[in-house]
Amino acid sequence: METEKLYYADPFLREFTARILTCEKGPKGGFLVTLDRTAFYPEGGGQPCDFGTLDGKSVTDVQEKDGVIFHKVEKSVEIGQNVTGILDWERRFDHMQQHSGEHIISGILCDAFHCDNVGFHMGSDVVTIDYNADISWEQALEAQAKANAVIAADTPFVITYPSAEELKTIDYRSKKELFGQVRIVTVPGADCCACCGTHVLRCGQVGLVKVLSVQKFREGVRIEIVCGNRALRLFDTVYEQNRAVAQSLSVKPEATAAAVARTLGELSDAKTRCAELEEQHFLELSKTYAGAGDTVLFFSPMPSDAVRKLTDAVAKQCGGLAAVFAGPEETDKYNYALIRADGADISALVKSMNAALSGRGGGRNGFAQGSVRAEKTDIQAFFKQQ
Ligand SMILES: [Zn+2]
Repeated sequence: METEKLYYADPFLREFTARILTCEKGPKGGFLVTLDRTAFYPEGGGQPCDFGTLDGKSVTDVQEKDGVIFHKVEKSVEIGQNVTGILDWERRFDHMQQHSGEHIISGILCDAFHCDNVGFHMGSDVVTIDYNADISWEQALEAQAKANAVIAADTPFVITYPSAEELKTIDYRSKKELFGQVRIVTVPGADCCACCGTHVLRCGQVGLVKVLSVQKFREGVRIEIVCGNRALRLFDTVYEQNRAVAQSLSVKPEATAAAVARTLGELSDAKTRCAELEEQHFLELSKTYAGAGDTVLFFSPMPSDAVRKLTDAVAKQCGGLAAVFAGPEETDKYNYALIRADGADISALVKSMNAALSGRGGGRNGFAQGSVRAEKTDIQAFFKQQ
């Protein structure tokens, strides 16, 4: 027996009583319960299923097969009994806001760009919609403005079940070939679409539609939107982030992008200036070791790039092997670079150093870079033996 679908008669029904018809063990654990009637919407039409309880037992999945709706619960229930079903209303209302908002903006976009909605996914964070048309960010924002005007006008959602003859005269959107009774969901002036989902009664209940992104996808675009309370929550999160950024940059929240661009420009200039000064400093420092032959030096921590540059400068001056070890004081962890001024092979030296000083790394043509786990005195002792 097909289940009576209470969510179509009243999509705002959140509590109901029904009789248990069957209860069987599910293939993936738990029990699958059928009722004579239900307000639990089963997964379908891009809309996730409802959650809630049946006599206090959690309903964790709802699926429809051949008109019969199966409710997954963790414990068995007695057949023939009456039960009270209570929906997780926050979840269902969120789904209705996302789904209904999607109708409004899809109707507007498909009409404006003579395209189809070829994909729809209601995720836990955002709703993604695919269209087979090239739509720009600015055009999506225009559609957003129109959609929010429809929401402000509080246009009703109209549900009809036209006959096959009547259906031929209706210009409606549909993702697939439909058979049997077709349910047409109309937002006068905005959308007309075949759909099996649950919707709000009036557009005002959507609250608002916000477009988040437009990206090229297959033969058209993928657009991300959020609606209603979900949009408000996202606004809260993003605004808090932006407020923190604004405070740290001492600008208004509306002016963070320009302030970040300015700060990144200053950082880039500072990096360039720092590199120039470092080069000059390394050159002056290396002159101290002019003609010194093999030279082993210790410095405070530096990026590996700077270690290499300093070693290179010293090698050019000392004329032999330059070895630079960079690490904090009293440590046994150093980053190193070894460079021979004449470019002669140092792979044997690096191999024995890595073995003696618990080192890693290597190189070629008179250059090697890596790290060791040894104390300064051990490193000095190793190079004295060479
Ligand atoms: Zn729908």
